Amino acid sequence: MKKTIQDLIEISTYAGDRVDYTQGGGGNTSVKKDGVMLIKASGYRLVDITKKTAFVAVDKEKIENYYQSVDLAVKKDYEKESAEISKSSVIAMDGIETLRPSVEVGFHAILKKYVIHTHSVYANIITCSVEGEAIAEKLFSDKDFGYIFMPYINPGFELTLAMKTKIENYVKEKGKFPEVIFMKNHGLVVTADYIERVKAINTDVNETIRKYFDIEDTFRSVELEEIDGGYRSNTKTIVEFVSKNGLTKALLDEKPLYPDQLVYLNNILAFSPETMTVKDKTVEYKVDLKKATTLEETLFAYLFVIESIKNAGLIVSIMNEKEVDFINNWEAEKYRRSVK
Ligand SMILES: [Zn+2]
Repeated sequence: MKKTIQDLIEISTYAGDRVDYTQGGGGNTSVKKDGVMLIKASGYRLVDITKKTAFVAVDKEKIENYYQSVDLAVKKDYEKESAEISKSSVIAMDGIETLRPSVEVGFHAILKKYVIHTHSVYANIITCSVEGEAIAEKLFSDKDFGYIFMPYINPGFELTLAMKTKIENYVKEKGKFPEVIFMKNHGLVVTADYIERVKAINTDVNETIRKYFDIEDTFRSVELEEIDGGYRSNTKTIVEFVSKNGLTKALLDEKPLYPDQLVYLNNILAFSPETMTVKDKTVEYKVDLKKATTLEETLFAYLFVIESIKNAGLIVSIMNEKEVDFINNWEAEKYRRSVK
């Protein structure tokens, strides 16, 4: 297992230490070995993963078999049942804290050995615009990896099942497994059987989109300045946007782009005078550094995606009311928000 843990740390550091790929506790990674899957634990950042914590081992076959055998003709609460399967699939490991697996554990279980799932800002220009699917076809149909483009589907049980069907159809048609999955209004999944390949494909997808939209390659981290009782944003993308347009909760609510925006930014922390305010043409956070970083990174990504779509002359595609309600009421997400 030592090598598998090392691999998980490697792909998590690769995807997790840059804000254009990963924001806050968003995104997750996994590695499979002999029927066991190591996956990021819920509520942690990718870069929190060490030899001892922030990941969990699960019985991969148990989860996979569940999705294989599920019979939708029987009416029941599949969301709840699948969450219980995930929970009961956890395998205790010596010397490693037993945590709850990522809420996205279901789709990890049905993919190849290595999985990198991020809410990359480049991928999300594609997934959050009306023209995105056509642009993906233009950019990726000649690559040596296959890809699929998933419509927006509620995260959890439904998403895993829909992904499974879409992959099976792709394999039947093309005779190979799609190593890239774009998820509408959500993000990017890259999966491969070799560690170098999963990283190379992930880089290729992001760089191809970045260059296509002629975006400079400078978005590695956010800049927070410590002030009396909190932190002030000095991140260029945020300061430029707020100076020009201001920023209100209404503006964020009006254009819900993807679940992590709702979970981290719109719901509990944002724009109450106690936590986050607009002041001197930027944003100030009155929370601890960890929370301020999560808010700042999520806000950065959101504004970056919205502005890039606008600059490219594309049409923003937003989540509908029902989709927003599902996220706001999702039990697993409530848990994620409560993790410090
Ligand atoms: Zn996600």
